[in-house]
Amino acid sequence: MTSVPPPILPGATIGVLGSGQLGRMFALAARELGYRIIVYSPDNDSPAGQIGDLEYSCAYDDLEKIREFARQVQVITFEFENVPSATTSAAAEFAPVRPDGRVLHITQNRLREKTFLHGNGFPVTPFRRITSLADLQSAAHDLGLPAVLKTADFGYDGKGQTKLAKQTELEAAWIGLKGTEGIYEAFVSFEKEISVVAARTLRGEFAAFPVFENTHANHILDVTFAPAAIDPRLQKEAIDLAAGILQKLDVVGLLTVEMFVTTDGRLLVNELAPRTHNSGHLTIDACVTSQFEQQVRAVCGLPLGSTELRNPAAMANLLGHLWSNGEPKWSAALEDPFVKLHLYGKAQARVGRKMGHLTATAETTQDAVNRVVTARLRL
Ligand code: AMP
Repeated sequence: MTSVPPPILPGATIGVLGSGQLGRMFALAARELGYRIIVYSPDNDSPAGQIGDLEYSCAYDDLEKIREFARQVQVITFEFENVPSATTSAAAEFAPVRPDGRVLHITQNRLREKTFLHGNGFPVTPFRRITSLADLQSAAHDLGLPAVLKTADFGYDGKGQTKLAKQTELEAAWIGLKGTEGIYEAFVSFEKEISVVAARTLRGEFAAFPVFENTHANHILDVTFAPAAIDPRLQKEAIDLAAGILQKLDVVGLLTVEMFVTTDGRLLVNELAPRTHNSGHLTIDACVTSQFEQQVRAVCGLPLGSTELRNPAAMANLLGHLWSNGEPKWSAALEDPFVKLHLYGKAQARVGRKMGHLTATAETTQDAVNRVVTARLRL
């Protein structure tokens, strides 16, 4: 058996690449466990920087600053996967990056990600690489319409994607790609969207949270609830799929697998995120261990915590438009004592920007959803 490095114990300093809300909630969990935190991103007074001991506000491609940051920490993780490979390589000269740069490289590009998944036997919708109008026309011929055309790089929350219904839309869609590489995906007729957030340690120990069911509004996650309303066979299949993916990628840390449940009852993987996930926020208030504490444990080499769901729970995102008539009415939302408020410390509320979330627990999943949606309406 290969030897496993010793754990990085509380008191040590963890470096975080990226400084948004995922980094903030990670930093809060790490601080509870007694770690120090240094945050690195181009921003300042960021959601994570407000919690960390130190905040570097520098470009990701400033490799000298990256090295200076990495020299001060014992391990590095991230909350934002679109960090250049050169950045993680420079950082890795001084401290382990978990998950490592290879996992980041695969998951930050939709084509590499789908090619990896398909090549290893994980189910995905049929797809093609697009680098010209001719590619797009032959993809439409081979895979049919409707379809979804996405940019290969830098996509999240439906950014950089277009639904294609007719042949006559192909040319405009190709122009819309502006010469960047694209991926053509056969449209999935799905019943539900679910996600599995899972952790894996250096020793290969694996733990998944219960399957989350997700609903979107304008391509952005709106409400998540757990447990998902799918049959136990599919739940097991989803978690087995995640276990296989984390193992194949040799992930140390967390990885989220977003999946479709198709109308004919199959699972298809839509996307991987090598980190915590918006759908996992309810774990803070509803699970024995939160996804953020689990990330700390996994990247530091501590034993994983229980992922048990204590109560059915639901989470509702709070987006910037809720601020359009001034500060939301927080007291009104919190009138229900089973509703918890999480705000990310963002100064400016822009439409579509994730500002915070509410979580509710209840006796049943439906009650938890009703509670959280009602609380949000009161804002
Ligand atoms: P993504 O940015 O890839 O996570 O996609 C955002 C959302 O677009 C997903 O959550 C789905 O609701 C929808 N979507 C993405 N890809 C497809 C597809 N191939 N077929 C149908 N809907 C899709």
